[in-house]
Amino acid sequence: MTTDPGDVIVVVRPLLPPWAVLGAALEDVVQSQILTNDGPRVRRLEALLSAEVGVADLAVTGSGTTAIQLACAALDLTGEVIVPAAAFPAIAQAVLRAGATPVAVDIEDTYLTIDPEAVRAAITPRTSAILAVHTFGCPADVDELRAIADAAGIPLVFDAATCWGIGYRGRPLLRYGDVATLSLHATKLTHSVEGGAVLGNTRTVAAAVRRLRNFGTGREGALASGTNARMSELHAAVGAAVLADAGAEIERRTAVRQLYLDALAEIPWLRPCDFRPDAGPAVAAMPVRLADDAPVNAESLCRALLTHNIHARAYFAGQYRIHSLHQAGPTPRADRAAKNIACLPFWGGLSEGQLARVVAALTAISRRPALVG
Ligand SMILES: *Cc1c(COP(=O)(O)O)cnc(C)c1O
Repeated sequence: MTTDPGDVIVVVRPLLPPWAVLGAALEDVVQSQILTNDGPRVRRLEALLSAEVGVADLAVTGSGTTAIQLACAALDLTGEVIVPAAAFPAIAQAVLRAGATPVAVDIEDTYLTIDPEAVRAAITPRTSAILAVHTFGCPADVDELRAIADAAGIPLVFDAATCWGIGYRGRPLLRYGDVATLSLHATKLTHSVEGGAVLGNTRTVAAAVRRLRNFGTGREGALASGTNARMSELHAAVGAAVLADAGAEIERRTAVRQLYLDALAEIPWLRPCDFRPDAGPAVAAMPVRLADDAPVNAESLCRALLTHNIHARAYFAGQYRIHSLHQAGPTPRADRAAKNIACLPFWGGLSEGQLARVVAALTAISRRPALVG
């Protein structure tokens, strides 16, 4: 037994270019004296993201959450918006801020994405959109959701917050859905410290988002749905510098994931979550599923790892759940995911030594009597 738990291993370390690069980018902004309000660096970051994804209609925002909020506002969504019951709280919060009512429906067991059958059952005359999430970068069932949205005559929106660098059937996952949103938060593969983007795949939304993010001001007056959701020039400059390193980070994360897959094969009560075929690389996170007879549940796993100075997250469990959310029906699979899904530390710079420590901690937890909690 070791008594020294070692240095802290966080869930994710932000990708940061060398200070020489970052400092020069920030100095440029300061020299220009243009700090915010739709400046040239914001427009340049939009052009860079557009070119990489292949979507011309793209506007950045202050966060991934405001990207969802402004996507809803740009599409003029009212009434009910169907969302997955197991999802980061930002999704339902953004729908509420945009003035619509989120209706939570169950997820699929295998891929943890919204269950098309549950969506179909929840459609009412008041439904104005389906807002699905590519959970941990795993594509939602895009074909079924497309068919349901088309039959109902409503837009299909994807929260693709974590999907930078992930492809599906030969094109970027961000290109699916009428509108998709991205987060550029520091915990995501590529980021601008805080930031997000709205992508209009089949709808033109960028111009509306640019107006809405700046209090909705315009010649005919200010829109009530406007807000301050701008990205600063400093953030945009960081965003462009980090983006230049994103390709290398995708390579590193792909290698780290493979090391995890090999190592986790030794832990009988836990396995990596499934990733939809024809999608990849699975570089957004390292989600794992606990077996029914595991010695811990997702939350107690996080607590147990913390005693080893290792951070993990149970994103569908208690602290992330909005209890007042309207549910279309029971959500047994989302409830199950709250108990058995957790994310392990994962980023490109995670060393083999750190990974070995995570696996050793999991092995130690295997040997403990069941921790109930
Ligand atoms: C990170 C994340 C968000 C929120 O993005 P922020 O930039 O932190 O506001 C929303 N949805 C999902 C799935 C996320 O992973």
